[in-house]
Amino acid sequence: MSHTLLTIVVPCYEEQEVINKTIEQLTIQLNKLVEENLISDKSKLLFVDDGSKDGTWTLIAKACATNRYVTGLKLSRNVGHQTALIAGLKRAQEKSSCAISIDADLQDDINVIRDFVLKYHEGYDVVYGVRRSRKTDTHFKRITAQGFYRVMNKLGINLVYNHADYRLMSKRVLEELNQYQEEKLFLRGILPMIGFKTTKVMYDRKERYAGDTKYPIKRMLSFAFDGITSFSIAPIRFITYLGFFLFFLGGIAGMYAIIQKIIGNTDAGWTSLMISIWLLGGLQLMGTGIIGEYIGRIFMEVKKRPKYAIDIDLYTDKDPFQYLR
Ligand code: UDP
Ligand code: MG
Repeated sequence: MSHTLLTIVVPCYEEQEVINKTIEQLTIQLNKLVEENLISDKSKLLFVDDGSKDGTWTLIAKACATNRYVTGLKLSRNVGHQTALIAGLKRAQEKSSCAISIDADLQDDINVIRDFVLKYHEGYDVVYGVRRSRKTDTHFKRITAQGFYRVMNKLGINLVYNHADYRLMSKRVLEELNQYQEEKLFLRGILPMIGFKTTKVMYDRKERYAGDTKYPIKRMLSFAFDGITSFSIAPIRFITYLGFFLFFLGGIAGMYAIIQKIIGNTDAGWTSLMISIWLLGGLQLMGTGIIGEYIGRIFMEVKKRPKYAIDIDLYTDKDPFQYLR
């Protein structure tokens, strides 16, 4: 019997169209791994319901009643993918030797879970699932994603290229992760910082099995912005440099204006005035905005509010079936 207790953590938000299929597929995978003696038969599929309003939770609870691998956490409201994942990982860390995080929509090839586990047995602490190609993504998503990696790279933030949240983490990595108590934990940036022995496994990402993406542009932008501002103060520095540069430019323009005045050439005109007012006004607003963004983050951090609340925990619940009655 293998003693490797694997927990697969799956954050779900309004995934009723796909969740049963996901449970079925992941169960087949777990069964295979148990038969091969790669993991213990006490391994779990932990579904974290991120405040869905559809039937997702009922389906999870139902599966929990009939499928020995399935367990679930129901969060008290929608807190977003990253935080839901963190809630699940924290639970997993208490109970298991390693955890794999994966999306509920079967976009990530679940056949590589076996490779993840093999790498774990070879002694790796983090195994990153890396997408071989982005053929299935829309043109727009591909371009924005590439821009994101480029910006992050420029800012010196270490990210694994084309790796999303599909990865295996050992218990000690999960324990380290637990030490990071910041409000907006950007997992993809934090994990490379934690270190340990890491490796990558390549896979092909498919299209969503069913349902729609929960990452519209607004969320993607806010995700990217969080990623940048939680790792770097480069935007603030950029503003400072820009300030110096404009000061210098203003000095030259000022001297030019004075000379014009002295030699009696007074048609410097209002165009130059308008340009400087608008340009500087815009820049100042931008600068204040960026600084405000960081101060806002400090504000959020110092309050140390809990990030989520657990409504129902099927792990510890003595009678999980009560929710079905
Ligand atoms: N998700 C979540 N909470 C949210 C939004 C999404 O738990 O508020 C989950 C969702 O159910 C899925 C994963 O996060 O399992 C990734 O979302 P999605 O597939 O919509 O993102 P995409 O693959 O389009 O980037
Ligand atoms: Mg998806």
